[in-house]
Amino acid sequence: MNQGEIAYLDNAATTPLHPEALAAMLPFLGDRFGNPSGVHAVARDARAALEEARDLVADCLGARPGEIVFTGGGTEADNLAITGLHARRGGTVVCPASEHHAVLHTVASLGGRVVPVTADGIVDFDALADALDDDVSVVSVMLANNETGTVQPLADIGALLREHAPNAVLHTDAVQAFPWLDVATLAASAPLVAVSAHKFGGPKGVGALVVREGVAVDPVIHGGGQERDRRSGTHNVAGIVGMAAAMRVTVEERERTVARVGTLRDRLADGLLAAVPGTRETGDRAAKVAGNCHLRFEGIESEALLILLDEAGVCASAGSACTSGAIEPSHVLTAMGIDSADALSSVRLSLGPTTSDDDVDLALKVVPEAVARLRGR
Ligand code: PLP
Repeated sequence: MNQGEIAYLDNAATTPLHPEALAAMLPFLGDRFGNPSGVHAVARDARAALEEARDLVADCLGARPGEIVFTGGGTEADNLAITGLHARRGGTVVCPASEHHAVLHTVASLGGRVVPVTADGIVDFDALADALDDDVSVVSVMLANNETGTVQPLADIGALLREHAPNAVLHTDAVQAFPWLDVATLAASAPLVAVSAHKFGGPKGVGALVVREGVAVDPVIHGGGQERDRRSGTHNVAGIVGMAAAMRVTVEERERTVARVGTLRDRLADGLLAAVPGTRETGDRAAKVAGNCHLRFEGIESEALLILLDEAGVCASAGSACTSGAIEPSHVLTAMGIDSADALSSVRLSLGPTTSDDDVDLALKVVPEAVARLRGR
């Protein structure tokens, strides 16, 4: 997306609403306003749309319709998975140190165990095996990281759990993975899977948790018993319908998007590595999702760089949007063993389906100029 001279390279923070999602939502912001929990014609109309959306979302996630719980976003889906399962089964919850705060803080709130990751950001298998035992009830490992784009080997993690923690349920936060990876296949071994609509062209404040048959979670939000008692509250029908439309488009176009955006990302990363001395790439590119370009510019403070980039029309981020503003090294980079000054020199340029050649051209022009200016050259 190049709005005039703006290159939006913050798609891991949020994506623009896809036109098909908007079109699907509009009737539910207008005439089709029913509450799907009711019995009359207007309610039934909303319920039909809700269940149609559920079928589509289930299909895109490799789940059955009854296994989909609609939530108010990815954070809530992660909370429901971990807190909801722990409330039901007790035991110990475990996650790697590189998880999104939606998982990390939930695990901390339950007194859980946090295990280290390697320098490439992959879960340390020996440490994970050590943290597992019969008492472990939930292990939460994200499919793709929001800062570095690193993809975890979920099938291998599932196998480790079966060996060392036979009572554990695997939850995966697939919020950042869904735009790029076939979550239906890659997360098939995880009984709990969280997604969030606004990361793939849907609206903000809507998400879903797959709760596979045979796994029960206690609700985190209590009330009228919607979503088969797993998540109460009147359904956000427009949001859910918009999420389903965005999911369909994402899945239909994913292969083409990954190929096209991956090429753009490589041009951007390789171009900046060549043009800016003292630049390092975070993580192993071969293990990252196609839209992630995460670089560290030696001697630079990313907060200052982001201001110059913003002035020059490049929207980027220094880490996850949830923590930007706090000038602390990212917990993800720290977990990878990157020291504080190095971590504070990092910038995430995240591409998406709407990213164009012009966006990359602008970043390739602006970033080297801004870094040179900050270095006083
Ligand atoms: N998990 C990951 C990996 C994310 O990147 C995000 C959003 O940044 C979330 C969870 C939270 O999702 P939401 O913004 O829908 O609450």
